[in-house]
Amino acid sequence: LIALSDVSKSYRRGAQIVPVLAGLTFDIRRKEFLALMGPSGSGKSTMLNLIAGIDSPDQGSIKVGGEDITLLPEAELADWRAANVGFIFQFYNLMPVLTALENVELPLTLTSLGRRERRDRAQLALSLVGLSDRVKHLPSELSGGQQQRVAIARAIVTDPTVLVADEPTGDLDRQSAKEVLEIMQRLNRDMGRTIVMVTHDHRAAAHAKRIMSLEKGDLSYLVEQRLE
Ligand code: ATP
Ligand code: MG
Repeated sequence: LIALSDVSKSYRRGAQIVPVLAGLTFDIRRKEFLALMGPSGSGKSTMLNLIAGIDSPDQGSIKVGGEDITLLPEAELADWRAANVGFIFQFYNLMPVLTALENVELPLTLTSLGRRERRDRAQLALSLVGLSDRVKHLPSELSGGQQQRVAIARAIVTDPTVLVADEPTGDLDRQSAKEVLEIMQRLNRDMGRTIVMVTHDHRAAAHAKRIMSLEKGDLSYLVEQRLE
């Protein structure tokens, strides 16, 4: 589904150029649940941002569903992202003045769907994360784990090609983290969602089907592929 080929990325720090990813080549299969681990500063978020079309590589190609997203002009890339990528962040990034339902509906306002259809889809997404009884709540009226579940509903409501999650449980207590991970696992296993998750936490990574580790721009497999 996703094919990175000879992907390199450096950042400029003052007069210095700091290489982060150097000639990475690897595939992410459809319906995969991949956990990406590695020390702080190893380039995990950078890699996730490249896959999600938030950032572009200095070199190499990134094909998603056969389309090389590195060739898309900025405006088209933004449209591509909106249609193909669902984002889950460490700090949820919900709009504080909108209810759970309104937050989940938000990505659909960019589509041609009617008001009724948007509401129905958002309701369905919230029911998939077990929050049908919290639709009218504001983020401030929800626990961290519930807020992250709203964020997951928002990420899936557009039916994206891939879900990307950067430390989705980094700000959660152990029990809420487990609930969030079990939802992600279910989305992958039962609904065929392709997920790429960055995490520091081995317990979180254990929910994935494959675990990779990034070290100084090099990737290695920690767990090649778990049997179902
Ligand atoms: P962490 O686990 O701490 O989140 P990470 O593995 O996600 O780390 P990245 O955020 O991908 O690491 O950063 C990799 C390297 O690239 C770091 O040295 C970082 O300082 C640098 N870097 C990341 N983004 C930028 C940027 N926009 N401009 C300059 N340097 C950056
Ligand atoms: Mg990071």
